[in-house]
Amino acid sequence: MRAIDMPTIDHRGPTFQDLGKRVLAGIRTIFKTKNPVLIYPASGTGAWEAALVNTLSPGDLCLMYETGHFATLWKKLAERLGLRTEFIEGDWRHGADAKAIGERLQADTNHEIKAVCVVHNETSTGCVSPIKAVREAIGAAGHPALLLVDTISSLASIDYRHDEWGVDVTVGGSQKGLMLPPGLSFNAVSDKALKAQESAKLPRSYWAWDEMLAANENGFFTYTPATNLLYGLDAAIEMLHAEGLENVFARHQRHGAATRAAVEAWGLEVLCAEPTHHSGSLTAVLMPDRKGADALRKIILDRFDMSLGAGLSKVADQIFRIGHLGDFNDLTLVGTLGGVEMGLKAAGVAHKSGGVDAAMAVLGDTETASYRQAA
Ligand code: PLP
Repeated sequence: MRAIDMPTIDHRGPTFQDLGKRVLAGIRTIFKTKNPVLIYPASGTGAWEAALVNTLSPGDLCLMYETGHFATLWKKLAERLGLRTEFIEGDWRHGADAKAIGERLQADTNHEIKAVCVVHNETSTGCVSPIKAVREAIGAAGHPALLLVDTISSLASIDYRHDEWGVDVTVGGSQKGLMLPPGLSFNAVSDKALKAQESAKLPRSYWAWDEMLAANENGFFTYTPATNLLYGLDAAIEMLHAEGLENVFARHQRHGAATRAAVEAWGLEVLCAEPTHHSGSLTAVLMPDRKGADALRKIILDRFDMSLGAGLSKVADQIFRIGHLGDFNDLTLVGTLGGVEMGLKAAGVAHKSGGVDAAMAVLGDTETASYRQAA
């Protein structure tokens, strides 16, 4: 926030050019790619659209996986653009099933499916999809479909490797692991995605990669960039490198483990039913009898000024979500869990006390302890 609080400079001048070159190079290290990353002055939804319109043509079939609310929204967006979609149904308690994706691709002998779209960390459920396994399943099926992945709530918080995992387009946003306000979003692209762009027929102008990539080569943008957010991005990249990306991932994993220990001690259930899909960014908690989450959230907001995530669409009022991503440390987590535990009591929700103690036992384990290192 301090980095953003600066005069907005001329985005065609040399000072901006230095900043542009720095953030365009720096953001590649966060996605773990050697290829370019497009930076849009838009929310994540814009980058979803950009990923599709730059690589696909009207009527193309996208295989998508129903991990939860955000996968469903991406599917709707694709349909509005004139794409055909096919959903592999999920129960909102697991990440994507790589085996099911592989089997569907194997059956697609005519190669009608042009893209596989998966949400890495489903923000509505707290379930993480195994992207490496999805890529391997696509490879094992010998299928040429592109792999498009949404990392809006996993980038810079959960281990992610654009190049190594062979992802074609990775969609990201500024407002979560990058610790910035909303307003920037990203497309990291593979060589195969860049090639697909040459023949893709969906109409595009604002989102078109080609002219933007040409301007980016010199550190500039074709239209007015969100200059002040780019000052913030520059600072965020520096902070992430100062801590070390691997330490950032480990910190999020610890906070996820501590939160789940609290939920278990309360006698409540974590929504994500598959331990290998548990999220380091957020934990969704099922209410006893699957009701009353919104009343609990209201009490916690009114009493402690803490806003927990709501259950969305299919799980409305059944769950609440504890976010533990971004600029977050052991003490902010203990405070957060303290607010939840006091709220459960105040709302009369059946539970056992001792969740905060259970979380502190995980956090106090010196073997796993990490704290922010000075730059
Ligand atoms: N994808 C995921 C996983 C999200 O969590 C969100 C928003 O929270 C979006 C997409 C949509 O992004 P935005 O609201 O920034 O447009």
